[in-house]
Amino acid sequence: MQTDIEIAESAKVRNITEIAAQIGLSSEDLEQYGKYIAKVPLDVLNKKGTKKGKLVLVTAVTPTPAGEGKTVTTISLIQGLAKIGKKVVGALREPSMGPTFGVKGGATGGGMSQVYPMWKIDLEFTGDIHAVSAAHNLLSAVLENNLVRDNPLNIDPSRIVWKKTMDMNARELRHIVVGLGDSKLNGGVTHESGFLITSASEISAILALSTDYADLRKRLESIVVAYTYDKKPVTAGQLGCVGSMMVILRDALMPNLVQTLEGQPVFIHGFPFANIAHGNNSVIATKAAMAFGDYAVTEAGFAADLGGEKFMDIVCRQSGIRPSAVVVVASIRALMMHGGADLKNPESFTADALAKGMANLDKHVANMKGYGMPVVVSINHFYTDDPEHIAMVRSHCKDIGAECVMSDGFLKGGEGAVELAQKVVEVLEGPKPELQFCYEDGLSVKQKIESVATKIYGADGVDYSPAAEKTIAQLVDQGYGGLPVCIAKTQYSLSDNAELKGAPKGWRLNVREVNLSAGAGFIVPVCGSIMLMPGLAKEPAALKIELTDDGKIVGLK
Ligand code: ADP
Ligand code: MG
Repeated sequence: MQTDIEIAESAKVRNITEIAAQIGLSSEDLEQYGKYIAKVPLDVLNKKGTKKGKLVLVTAVTPTPAGEGKTVTTISLIQGLAKIGKKVVGALREPSMGPTFGVKGGATGGGMSQVYPMWKIDLEFTGDIHAVSAAHNLLSAVLENNLVRDNPLNIDPSRIVWKKTMDMNARELRHIVVGLGDSKLNGGVTHESGFLITSASEISAILALSTDYADLRKRLESIVVAYTYDKKPVTAGQLGCVGSMMVILRDALMPNLVQTLEGQPVFIHGFPFANIAHGNNSVIATKAAMAFGDYAVTEAGFAADLGGEKFMDIVCRQSGIRPSAVVVVASIRALMMHGGADLKNPESFTADALAKGMANLDKHVANMKGYGMPVVVSINHFYTDDPEHIAMVRSHCKDIGAECVMSDGFLKGGEGAVELAQKVVEVLEGPKPELQFCYEDGLSVKQKIESVATKIYGADGVDYSPAAEKTIAQLVDQGYGGLPVCIAKTQYSLSDNAELKGAPKGWRLNVREVNLSAGAGFIVPVCGSIMLMPGLAKEPAALKIELTDDGKIVGLK
């Protein structure tokens, strides 16, 4: 079988100007980055994007090491919709270099369902992630400089919450001490600090939620970077460098246009984490996909309880975007793992495990229906799958009243996703659904957390550490109590314990600490330990990637 990169290298792709022309954009409208990538300025989007396309959100069951394939399914659906003659535009997140060189690999799809060119999109792309790193670190530098310049804002160095960032897995930088040296002006003020990976920076969340430059500015100004000695929040706006940050981020706010292997336009833009942030591509990209396509398809990160929930309760609430249908991706082997199958024991991948593991699918389907959305379950076909197992999932979905199709987009591209595309179109022809949030704005912070925990995760209730209790009270005092919640918990379980597969019952959600992302516009209750700066695995992908002497890339996946 050909590797993803071999398939991409031999694909017949067109110049980005031809892709843009399909949606009415001329070469004058674009800021081109080589032959296959362009940025589209915001004024062009506003002027020329006039459609009101229907939006499909692709999300999935709880991830397992067996793989589910949301990005592959998203791109398959885009290609499949085009196969049946629909005008479709996609919106996806930008891959981060940490996972590309770590274990997971890139995030540009796979097989015959990819966005092109993976070797650019997965790596430097158009520099958006670097721009966020630079803006983040500029804010940090100005903050640290303030401390040594007589500290006019009365910042308590032990209460600085704004750390540093870079787009690389570097566990040794998680906890550091900065400001060592023989004098303040030589080395700064000594205090504990650390690095986050760039996609975990609040600026990544902000960039993905901003609707225009004015909104970006307002959000950047609202970032809380530290607290004073008398415990008052200090914002980026008070430090006076937001204008410079805006200039750094100017181009990064413009969405990037690329194509699928079958020539459909896709906006790839925004890269927030799906635990401490909302895990979806930018609002600007999703709105652009809806404004230039009759159909728009977007993907939410992790499973439906994380990226899916946050898409509905944060992105849709803040932006006014409304989806018309949800696709829940499942794979046979992933469902088997939810029913107890173990990768180390191939014999354990049985029909019994599949029947048991369906509980995970059922919960995610019920959750998405709870948002008022029509749901299509899409089984991502792996060539090793047994047709009987696929028939079992189809019949099970009938029993729970969900539409179910199989997608073979990995092996066959758009042709393999015709059944999925037809089913999605059929569902979209029904009455327009009314989005019902999981919780209303007026609820208290705790009631919001409890709504997500009990309705979406299936918890019996929520327990708070004393620190979490204290922070919630402080945030309410400081006037942040009206914000939605962005719960950070493991992606490997519906519960807060990664070991519990399926749909765990009889457990309570533990909120360990609570953080504020005032610029992004949400409160982050943290459940368990969430990694904001990953480390590298024992054998990371970084050891298997090569450039040949004639300039060919090998090993990138
Ligand atoms: P997600 O978006 O859910 O994280 P991806 O779609 O990126 O998942 O898929 C994860 C990995 O699994 C990718 O390397 C992809 O190429 C591979 N993959 C996905 N679907 C299939 C399939 N049907 N057959 C083989 N490999 C697949
Ligand atoms: Mg993905």
